[in-house]
Parts: sequence; C-alpha cells; structure tokens
Amino acid sequence: MIPFLDMKAVYAELKPELDAAFARVMASGWYVLGQEVEAFEAEYAAFCGTRHCVGLGNGLEALELVLRAWDLGAGDEVIVPSNTYIATWLAVTATGARVVPVEPTTTGVNIDPERLAAAITSRTRAIMPVHLYGEPADMDAIMAIAHKHGLKVVEDVAQAQGAKVRGRRAGSLGDAGAHSFFPTKNFGAFGDAGAVTTDDARLADRLRALRNYGSKVKYVNIERGFNSRLDELQAALLRVKLPRLDAWNDHRRRIAARYDDKLVGIPGLALPRAPQWAEPVWHLYVVRSERRAELMAALDKAGIGSLIHYPIPPHLQRAYADLGLSKGAFPLAEKLADTVLSLPMGAHMPETVVDQVAAVIRATLS
Ligand SMILES: *Cc1c(COP(=O)(O)O)cnc(C)c1O
Repeated sequence: MIPFLDMKAVYAELKPELDAAFARVMASGWYVLGQEVEAFEAEYAAFCGTRHCVGLGNGLEALELVLRAWDLGAGDEVIVPSNTYIATWLAVTATGARVVPVEPTTTGVNIDPERLAAAITSRTRAIMPVHLYGEPADMDAIMAIAHKHGLKVVEDVAQAQGAKVRGRRAGSLGDAGAHSFFPTKNFGAFGDAGAVTTDDARLADRLRALRNYGSKVKYVNIERGFNSRLDELQAALLRVKLPRLDAWNDHRRRIAARYDDKLVGIPGLALPRAPQWAEPVWHLYVVRSERRAELMAALDKAGIGSLIHYPIPPHLQRAYADLGLSKGAFPLAEKLADTVLSLPMGAHMPETVVDQVAAVIRATLS
C-alpha cells in the first residue's frame, strides 16, 4: 500500500525533539501568546526574509485579517484566481468585499498577469495571488501591475512555504504573505496554525491588535477585533520543524524530478511545468489527463493513493451560487478541475515509490 501522504513520518523522525518542546510548553504554565510565539515569529520572519511575522490561528484568518487591516470591505474588489482552493475566496467575501476571479495562464495553474490587468476597475483595491501546488505565481509581473495601479498584494502562501522567485522567498514578494500551517502543508503544525509575513511595521502592528480582540494593552480595546492567535504549543512544535524545511523541500524536488523523468512521453498525460524563474516546493505533484477516472481506478487497484485538488472550482460551489456564475464562466479553471490528478508526494516518501506509480500510469495509458 502506498499512501497519498504519510502523516506519521514527521513525528517518527523528530520524536525526541518534539516531545521535549511539548513538555517545555506544558510545564511553563503559559499557553497563548508568549515566548514560543515570539521566538517562532522572529525565526520564521528570518526564514522568509521579511522584517515581521505575526502568528495567527490559521491560514484563512491570515488572509482575511490582512484585508481587514487594510480596511477593505463592502464596495471594494479583490482580484483572486478562478483556479484555487475556496479559502482564498472565503477570506475576501468574509470582509464584505467582492471577489473578481481571474483565469490561470493557458498552460499553467496560476493567475495570468495579462488577464489580471484586464480585470482591474476603479473599485479594485487588492490582488490575492496563490502559489498553487507550491509553484510561485508570476510575482514580478503581478507586482509591476500592482504598483502601476496603486493596489495592495497579499500572497496566499498556504501551499508554498520555502518556495522562491529569483532567490526571494514566497511571502516576501508582495505587501504581505498569508501562511497556513495546517498539518498537510509543506510546513505543517500539529493542529491549526497560521501567520502573516510582511516588511510593513504598521500592518504587523495592526494584525497584532486584530488577532487579540483589537487590544494591545490588556482590557483596552482600540478596535473591534477577533480571536485568531497562534498558540504556544504549535509555535514550539513549528520551531522544531523549521530548520528541516529546506531539506524536506529538496527531497520533494528530487521526487518531482524523478516523476518528470519516469512519466515523460506518455500519451494523454500532461506533466506540471514550472517557469524558469520559479523555484517551486512541490506541495503537490499534479498531472493532467482526460482519462483521469481510469487512471485513479488503476492506481487505487494497485494500492496507490491519489487525490483531486480540486474537483469543483469555487465559482461552481453552492457556497457561491449567489454570484450567479454558471458553468462556462471560467473555462480554464473548469478544465483543470475536470483533468487534474495529484500523485503521492511528501517529504518522507521514498524516491523509489515514484517508479511504482509511474509504471501503473504508463501501463494504463499506453
Ligand atoms: C490550506 C489553504 C488555505 C487555508 O489554510 P487553513 O490554515 O486551512 O485555514 C488557504 N489557501 C490555500 C491555497 C490553501 O491550500
């Protein structure tokens, strides 16, 4: 049996250190917003190459609180990818702002800068690019458009911790980066957790108030805030994992390269192709095929796990029925939803698993 992702492997690798961090926090008697969170924020900011990091409850709230810190709401428009996980959209609509979906590039999965530029109106306030599957969006082009039109940019880094564009980390490329440390992400906690990275001291300051009831001084509330705090336990456990992240991402890169090598030239199968300037971290290795159902069945029969990220694009979800966007509104996102298939991938997956997966795919499609 080959699982899609082995969630127990990290604990097996780092048990003594994780247990020690756990015991340290348990014995401290201090569980929310303390030394561990402060130390993690400094370490993660250094890793991302930003001046500030603010630990938050999860990735969705990281995205939403950035928009709230920029005072976005009803009457404002935020440009989002049509091809993304629904959380990206939910963060925007939670503030009362309107989502303006933009299609991906014709051959890729991330937002198309040309189509993005064409979607800007007098109400556009921000752009929320997503580095989907760990592949950086075209941030150089997006930032150039944002500067020209005076727009804010918040990166959705949920799937791309450690990824780079021309040597600079995802999360340091826009005005802010929103990170999720959900357990399955490349840099995952052991529960829910998130953060925002930024060079903007005022934004970081506002987020510190917003995450804690709108308060910086105990029982003095300067605005109506939220409860979205990274807790001490998760921060301490993340601190154990952070020094390993680059090596784990390197392993994912080797797996991706091996998939490329073993799957090349199979008829009816399209492989992921990262642009020259991007250094992806392969959160997922996603192939495309019109014969996806057959492929999934064959893999399943061979005891190999595979998943679809994502089967229904946000605009076709019932959650967004009120937007009145019917089938055909975003054909590129819809086509991806109908053909994408994620193969086993993980920082602890043996490289030889690739050969077994590839053999099943080749036999099915040839
Ligand atoms: C996981 C994810 C989120 C949300 O993160 P949570 O921590 O689960 O709230 C947002 N955007 C994308 C692209 C994600 O993959």
